[in-house]
Amino acid sequence: MPKAQETVLEIDLSALKQNFEYLKSKLRKETKFLAVVKAFAYGNDADDLALFLQDLNVDYFAVAYTSEGVALRNAGVTKPILVLHPLPVSFHTIIERCLEPSIYNTKVLKEFLDVATYKNQKNYPIHLKFNTGLNRLGFAEDDIESIYSKLQGSETIYVKSIFSHLAASEDLNEKEFTEHQIIAFKKIADAFTKVFDYKPMLHLCNTSGILNHPEAHLDMVRSGIGLYGFGNSEKENINFKPIAKLKSVISQIHHIEKGDTVGYNRAYKSAASIITATIPIGHADGIGRQYGQGKGFVIIDGKKAPIVGNVCMDMIMVNITGIECEEGDEVIIFDASHTAENLASAANTISYELITAISQRVKRVIKK
Ligand SMILES: *Cc1c(COP(=O)(O)O)cnc(C)c1O
Repeated sequence: MPKAQETVLEIDLSALKQNFEYLKSKLRKETKFLAVVKAFAYGNDADDLALFLQDLNVDYFAVAYTSEGVALRNAGVTKPILVLHPLPVSFHTIIERCLEPSIYNTKVLKEFLDVATYKNQKNYPIHLKFNTGLNRLGFAEDDIESIYSKLQGSETIYVKSIFSHLAASEDLNEKEFTEHQIIAFKKIADAFTKVFDYKPMLHLCNTSGILNHPEAHLDMVRSGIGLYGFGNSEKENINFKPIAKLKSVISQIHHIEKGDTVGYNRAYKSAASIITATIPIGHADGIGRQYGQGKGFVIIDGKKAPIVGNVCMDMIMVNITGIECEEGDEVIIFDASHTAENLASAANTISYELITAISQRVKRVIKK
């Protein structure tokens, strides 16, 4: 049995490269690739991963918030960075750090234009987000005239791209809805070009859009989860390799007698005598309480050890009855074969939630 010392999230850059190349192989040569590295690159490590992807020649990066873009600039990222959901309070910083805002309604457009004018900008790049059915952020097609009336005659900002986001690209039962979104977006793009008399870059697809809707790749695609090793379907997961391995160690082993209880609120009452192991990872590290009560599990010596009772803040207890192991042995929470997707689905959630939740307290180790 391999030994371990602490809880570590190990990140395999060669797997990241493999996933990137697989996604690229789906694209036409001229389609640009934007790497979505929001939320610490989905809980991995945004700085190191972005620098690695920059060396692989990705064209663009995206983050959700301005502070994430600033962190990338501080780390040495020089490629363009799209900020998907910038709040107006950060518009000065956006310009100072050469970040490119997504603008999604008239109020925000006016506020950005005011700041860019105040800062004497010329042709500052912005990206217009249109709503085609997700109903989250975005202008409507009808807004194009009023956008034009705000921007005409001014050289302060220019529209570098227009984009939208698919609501159900991973769900083939919703293919028809997605196709409607694609048509609606193309219509918006045509209307925009007519009014503005120039053609910005167009982009629509996230990872599952890349895989399921090649007709919608357009000028650029935006991938997050695929880079990190998940294809959002059994069929596609085979073509990706999860880049992260979350591992920990057995701190202590207990023999629990029939009728004894384990953990807070005595949530586990033993119907027979069992053996448990205590592992130094808890809900403060990102293993939420929904993984408790036997739903979630870890892997010890290649075998499943279910979580017993409630998840604590800093620890879990798992049932190791029948597993050959001792204190100091390695514990796998997820890796490329026991994937985060498997663990997440055991607790009725998705890989996105599990991996982005791994807290900053867990040490990251980058494997070159
Ligand atoms: C997060 C996000 C993406 C990436 O989606 P994946 O499913 O992880 O590939 C793309 N576009 C937008 C607007 C997003 O918010």
